[in-house]
Amino acid sequence: MNNIKGITVEENALLNNLNTYKIASKAKYLIKVDTIESLIELLKYLKENKIKFFILGAGSNVILDEYFDGAIIKLKGLNYVHIKDNLVTTGAGTMMVKLATTTVNNNLTGLEWAINIPGTIGGSINGNAGAYNSEIFDNLVKVKVLTPKLEVKEMLKEDFTYSYRHTNIKEKKLIVLEATFKLAKGDKKTSEEIIKDRWHRRKTTQPLEMPSAGSVFRNPENDYAGRLIEEAGLKGKTIGGAQISLKHANFIVNIGGATSKDIKNLIELIRKEVKNQFNVDLILEQEIIDWK
Ligand SMILES: Cc1cc2nc3c(=O)[nH]c(=O)nc-3n(C[C@H](O)[C@H](O)[C@H](O)COP(=O)(O)OP(=O)(O)OC[C@H]3O[C@@H](n4cnc5c(N)ncnc54)[C@H](O)[C@@H]3O)c2cc1C
Repeated sequence: MNNIKGITVEENALLNNLNTYKIASKAKYLIKVDTIESLIELLKYLKENKIKFFILGAGSNVILDEYFDGAIIKLKGLNYVHIKDNLVTTGAGTMMVKLATTTVNNNLTGLEWAINIPGTIGGSINGNAGAYNSEIFDNLVKVKVLTPKLEVKEMLKEDFTYSYRHTNIKEKKLIVLEATFKLAKGDKKTSEEIIKDRWHRRKTTQPLEMPSAGSVFRNPENDYAGRLIEEAGLKGKTIGGAQISLKHANFIVNIGGATSKDIKNLIELIRKEVKNQFNVDLILEQEIIDWK
């Protein structure tokens, strides 16, 4: 693997700081790639050598398993934002905050909400991330993807199946490489006001000072998962190092040493109680990664 240009490989790598829950997790290989070409070379090598792989963004929507006997791949080099008129092209490894800030600074409007998402473009397109009645597919024009046959392909927004916090990208085994958005002309000052107001609201209502992966469950139609969990009397419930946040019941926070098992057990408890008490089936927004 060391002959492949444009990659750095770490063996027996800790993933504790590569997931926002700060779950203790390890992988046989942690590989950072610089370019699309190096990613393709790497994937060929992994396939030939029967090594499993997993693309990790910022790890802000995943509940990682303890050990991965394969390669965690980070698209480190795909970190750029290019603007031409009102078209914005960005690499899959770029953080949403960078995309949002760059567009606002260029007097473009439509992605202000993205400033609060602590994820990458790749992870956010995969899960159709969104907030305040906006989602990433709203302004999306096209996506450059890598297919399972290792072909680079441009797909239009219409070529995907997508809905609230869901797309068919995982199912199709596609890797997001780059995305292009079409935004409207805006005004930096107005966008900054919107951002300031929303940031204040988030800070006062969400446990941003604790490790978490954001909302645990999707909001059921015409209701809020947080309201149901709170009404079920579960706020503050703790299993091991995982706790249902006292500040916002739809957040699970790591109060110290939480394992994926602790978090999964809390999730099951919430599901059971909310079903028993309100006959509502909560749908998970976070992704449980099972590497066994
Ligand atoms: C405090 C906090 C607040 C949050 N608020 C919101 C919110 O308001 N709205 C919201 O929607 N989410 C929110 N989230 C959740 C999370 O930030 C988003 O879901 C984000 O889009 C995940 O991106 P990521 O890069 O971290 O993905 P990861 O968690 O790293 O990965 C998620 C999935 O995407 C896949 N993936 C990653 N990169 C690629 C790629 N290049 N190609 C294909 N698949 C890929 C991974 O394999 C994995 O299956 C919040 C999280 C936190 C911690």
